Amino acid sequence: MSIKDNLNTIKSKLPEGVTLVAVSKTKPNEDLLEAYEAGQRVFGENKVQEMVQKWEDLPKDIEWHMIGHVQRNKVKYMTEFVSLIHGVDSPRLLKEINKQAKKHDRVIPCLLQIHIAEEDTKFGLDKAELDELINSDAFEAMENIKIVGLMGMATFTDDKNQVRKEFAQLKSMFDELTTKLEDITILSMGMSGDYQIAIEEGSNMVRIGSSIFGVRNYS
Ligand SMILES: *Cc1c(COP(=O)(O)O)cnc(C)c1O
Repeated sequence: MSIKDNLNTIKSKLPEGVTLVAVSKTKPNEDLLEAYEAGQRVFGENKVQEMVQKWEDLPKDIEWHMIGHVQRNKVKYMTEFVSLIHGVDSPRLLKEINKQAKKHDRVIPCLLQIHIAEEDTKFGLDKAELDELINSDAFEAMENIKIVGLMGMATFTDDKNQVRKEFAQLKSMFDELTTKLEDITILSMGMSGDYQIAIEEGSNMVRIGSSIFGVRNYS
Protein backbone atom coordinates (compact mmCIF):
# COMPACT_ATOMS: atom_id res chain seq x y z
CA MET A 1 0.00 0.00 0.00
CA SER A 2 1.16 3.52 -0.74
CA ILE A 3 1.38 6.30 1.82
CA LYS A 4 -1.66 7.84 0.21
CA ASP A 5 -3.67 4.61 0.54
CA ASN A 6 -2.60 4.19 4.16
CA LEU A 7 -3.61 7.75 4.94
CA ASN A 8 -7.00 7.36 3.32
CA THR A 9 -7.66 4.09 5.12
CA ILE A 10 -6.86 5.65 8.48
CA LYS A 11 -8.79 8.83 7.77
CA SER A 12 -11.85 6.79 6.85
CA LYS A 13 -11.75 5.27 10.34
CA LEU A 14 -11.41 8.54 12.24
CA PRO A 15 -14.61 10.09 13.53
CA GLU A 16 -15.24 13.75 12.78
CA GLY A 17 -13.44 16.00 15.22
CA VAL A 18 -10.40 13.76 15.60
CA THR A 19 -7.23 15.37 14.24
CA LEU A 20 -4.65 13.16 12.60
CA VAL A 21 -1.01 14.01 13.26
CA ALA A 22 1.10 12.17 10.69
CA VAL A 23 4.23 11.16 12.60
CA SER A 24 7.02 11.48 10.07
CA LYS A 25 10.12 11.15 12.28
CA THR A 26 13.08 9.48 10.51
CA LYS A 27 11.22 9.60 7.18
CA PRO A 28 12.63 11.40 4.11
CA ASN A 29 11.05 14.56 2.66
CA GLU A 30 9.68 12.64 -0.32
CA ASP A 31 7.51 10.54 2.01
CA LEU A 32 6.17 13.66 3.71
CA LEU A 33 5.47 15.21 0.32
CA GLU A 34 3.51 12.16 -0.72
CA ALA A 35 1.32 12.57 2.36
CA TYR A 36 1.12 16.32 1.70
CA GLU A 37 -0.05 15.73 -1.84
CA ALA A 38 -2.73 13.41 -0.46
CA GLY A 39 -3.98 16.35 1.61
CA GLN A 40 -2.20 15.88 4.94
CA ARG A 41 -1.10 19.15 6.57
CA VAL A 42 -0.32 18.22 10.17
CA PHE A 43 2.99 16.44 10.79
CA GLY A 44 4.62 15.31 14.01
CA GLU A 45 8.35 15.04 14.67
CA ASN A 46 10.24 14.09 17.81
CA LYS A 47 13.63 15.70 17.20
CA VAL A 48 13.93 19.47 17.00
CA GLN A 49 16.81 19.56 14.48
CA GLU A 50 15.07 17.16 12.14
CA MET A 51 11.85 19.16 12.33
CA VAL A 52 13.68 22.42 11.60
CA GLN A 53 15.30 20.89 8.53
CA LYS A 54 11.97 19.60 7.23
CA TRP A 55 10.27 22.93 7.93
CA GLU A 56 12.95 24.65 5.83
CA ASP A 57 12.63 22.18 2.97
CA LEU A 58 8.87 21.59 2.74
CA PRO A 59 5.76 23.67 1.93
CA LYS A 60 5.07 26.45 4.37
CA ASP A 61 1.43 25.61 5.04
CA ILE A 62 2.43 22.49 6.99
CA GLU A 63 1.60 22.58 10.69
CA TRP A 64 4.52 21.18 12.65
CA HIS A 65 3.88 19.43 15.95
CA MET A 66 6.72 18.58 18.30
CA ILE A 67 5.68 15.28 19.86
CA GLY A 68 8.95 14.19 21.46
CA HIS A 69 10.77 14.97 24.65
CA VAL A 70 12.23 18.47 24.30
CA GLN A 71 15.51 19.63 25.79
CA ARG A 72 15.36 23.21 26.97
CA ASN A 73 18.37 24.30 24.95
CA LYS A 74 16.61 23.20 21.71
CA VAL A 75 13.41 25.18 22.20
CA LYS A 76 14.78 28.31 20.54
CA TYR A 77 15.26 26.60 17.17
CA MET A 78 11.56 25.86 16.70
CA THR A 79 9.88 28.85 18.36
CA GLU A 80 9.37 30.66 15.11
CA PHE A 81 7.20 28.02 13.49
CA VAL A 82 6.09 25.19 15.77
CA SER A 83 2.29 25.00 15.99
CA LEU A 84 1.88 22.67 18.97
CA ILE A 85 4.30 21.22 21.50
CA HIS A 86 2.87 17.94 22.88
CA GLY A 87 5.48 16.87 25.37
CA VAL A 88 5.68 19.60 27.99
CA ASP A 89 6.56 17.77 31.16
CA SER A 90 8.19 20.28 33.50
CA PRO A 91 7.72 23.85 34.73
CA ARG A 92 11.28 24.63 33.62
CA LEU A 93 10.59 23.58 30.06
CA LEU A 94 7.38 25.59 30.01
CA LYS A 95 9.24 28.61 31.29
CA GLU A 96 11.83 28.31 28.53
CA ILE A 97 9.12 27.98 25.85
CA ASN A 98 7.46 31.10 27.28
CA LYS A 99 10.73 33.01 27.20
CA GLN A 100 11.56 32.08 23.60
CA ALA A 101 7.98 32.66 22.44
CA LYS A 102 8.10 36.16 23.90
CA LYS A 103 11.17 36.97 21.80
CA HIS A 104 9.19 36.04 18.71
CA ASP A 105 6.08 37.80 19.92
CA ARG A 106 4.14 34.54 19.78
CA VAL A 107 1.82 32.62 22.05
CA ILE A 108 2.73 28.96 21.63
CA PRO A 109 0.04 26.32 22.23
CA CYS A 110 1.29 23.48 24.43
CA LEU A 111 0.02 20.18 25.78
CA LEU A 112 1.11 18.92 29.17
CA GLN A 113 2.37 15.37 28.96
CA ILE A 114 0.94 13.12 31.64
CA HIS A 115 2.57 9.91 32.76
CA ILE A 116 -0.09 7.20 32.44
CA ALA A 117 1.96 4.14 31.45
CA GLU A 118 3.32 1.55 33.82
CA GLU A 119 6.83 1.81 32.39
CA ASP A 120 8.90 4.47 34.14
CA THR A 121 10.71 5.20 30.89
CA LYS A 122 7.87 7.33 29.54
CA PHE A 123 8.08 11.00 30.37
CA GLY A 124 5.32 13.00 31.91
CA LEU A 125 3.83 14.67 34.94
CA ASP A 126 1.77 12.85 37.53
CA LYS A 127 -1.49 14.21 38.90
CA ALA A 128 0.15 16.01 41.82
CA GLU A 129 2.74 17.66 39.56
CA LEU A 130 0.02 18.75 37.15
CA ASP A 131 -1.97 20.37 39.95
CA GLU A 132 1.10 22.05 41.33
CA LEU A 133 2.07 23.44 37.95
CA ILE A 134 -1.30 24.89 37.03
CA ASN A 135 -1.73 26.43 40.46
CA SER A 136 1.70 28.04 40.58
CA ASP A 137 2.30 31.79 40.39
CA ALA A 138 4.98 31.20 37.78
CA PHE A 139 2.39 29.57 35.53
CA GLU A 140 -0.02 32.47 36.04
CA ALA A 141 2.68 34.86 34.88
CA MET A 142 3.48 33.12 31.59
CA GLU A 143 1.85 35.10 28.83
CA ASN A 144 3.49 33.55 25.80
CA ILE A 145 2.35 29.98 26.23
CA LYS A 146 -1.15 28.60 26.20
CA ILE A 147 -1.96 25.19 27.65
CA VAL A 148 -4.58 23.74 25.33
CA GLY A 149 -4.78 20.16 26.58
CA LEU A 150 -3.05 16.96 27.61
CA MET A 151 -1.00 14.27 25.93
CA GLY A 152 -0.16 10.77 27.07
CA MET A 153 1.23 7.43 25.93
CA ALA A 154 -0.15 4.14 27.15
CA THR A 155 1.95 1.18 28.22
CA PHE A 156 3.35 -0.80 25.29
CA THR A 157 1.44 -4.02 25.89
CA ASP A 158 -0.98 -6.43 24.21
CA ASP A 159 -3.27 -6.10 27.23
CA LYS A 160 -6.01 -3.95 25.74
CA ASN A 161 -7.75 -3.54 29.08
CA GLN A 162 -4.62 -2.03 30.54
CA VAL A 163 -4.31 0.40 27.64
CA ARG A 164 -7.98 1.30 27.87
CA LYS A 165 -7.72 1.92 31.59
CA GLU A 166 -4.76 4.27 31.11
CA PHE A 167 -6.52 6.26 28.40
CA ALA A 168 -9.64 6.50 30.55
CA GLN A 169 -7.51 7.85 33.37
CA LEU A 170 -6.07 10.53 31.10
CA LYS A 171 -9.54 11.44 29.83
CA SER A 172 -10.75 11.99 33.36
CA MET A 173 -7.78 14.26 34.10
CA PHE A 174 -8.57 16.12 30.90
CA ASP A 175 -12.22 16.58 31.89
CA GLU A 176 -11.17 17.88 35.27
CA LEU A 177 -8.70 20.29 33.69
CA THR A 178 -11.42 21.79 31.49
CA THR A 179 -13.13 22.96 34.70
CA LYS A 180 -9.94 24.69 35.90
CA LEU A 181 -8.41 26.31 32.81
CA GLU A 182 -9.85 27.98 29.77
CA ASP A 183 -8.86 26.86 26.27
CA ILE A 184 -8.53 23.15 27.14
CA THR A 185 -9.68 21.44 23.97
CA ILE A 186 -7.08 18.88 22.88
CA LEU A 187 -6.61 15.37 24.19
CA SER A 188 -3.68 13.83 22.32
CA MET A 189 -3.64 10.08 22.81
CA GLY A 190 -3.35 7.09 20.51
CA MET A 191 -0.67 5.83 18.12
CA SER A 192 -0.66 3.19 15.33
CA GLY A 193 -1.22 0.29 17.70
CA ASP A 194 -3.82 1.76 20.01
CA TYR A 195 -5.56 4.73 18.40
CA GLN A 196 -8.90 2.99 18.08
CA ILE A 197 -9.04 2.35 21.82
CA ALA A 198 -7.85 5.91 22.44
CA ILE A 199 -10.70 7.32 20.35
CA GLU A 200 -13.23 5.15 22.14
CA GLU A 201 -11.90 6.61 25.38
CA GLY A 202 -12.22 10.21 24.20
CA SER A 203 -9.09 11.14 22.25
CA ASN A 204 -9.49 13.94 19.72
CA MET A 205 -5.93 13.93 18.40
CA VAL A 206 -4.07 10.80 17.30
CA ARG A 207 -0.38 10.59 16.46
CA ILE A 208 0.15 7.94 13.82
CA GLY A 209 3.47 7.07 12.21
CA SER A 210 4.19 3.52 11.13
CA SER A 211 0.65 2.77 9.90
CA ILE A 212 1.06 5.63 7.43
CA PHE A 213 4.75 5.62 6.50
CA GLY A 214 5.73 2.02 7.26
CA VAL A 215 8.16 0.79 9.89
CA ARG A 216 10.96 3.13 10.87
CA ASN A 217 14.57 2.26 10.33
CA TYR A 218 16.70 3.92 12.99
CA SER A 219 20.08 2.79 11.68
C1 LIG B 1 6.79 7.81 17.27
C2 LIG B 1 5.68 8.36 18.05
C3 LIG B 1 4.35 8.14 17.67
C4 LIG B 1 3.93 7.31 16.46
O1 LIG B 1 4.16 5.97 16.69
P1 LIG B 1 3.62 4.84 15.69
O2 LIG B 1 3.53 3.63 16.54
O3 LIG B 1 4.61 4.72 14.61
O4 LIG B 1 2.30 5.28 15.19
C5 LIG B 1 3.36 8.75 18.42
N1 LIG B 1 3.65 9.49 19.50
C6 LIG B 1 4.91 9.71 19.90
C7 LIG B 1 5.16 10.55 21.09
C8 LIG B 1 5.96 9.14 19.20
O5 LIG B 1 7.23 9.36 19.61
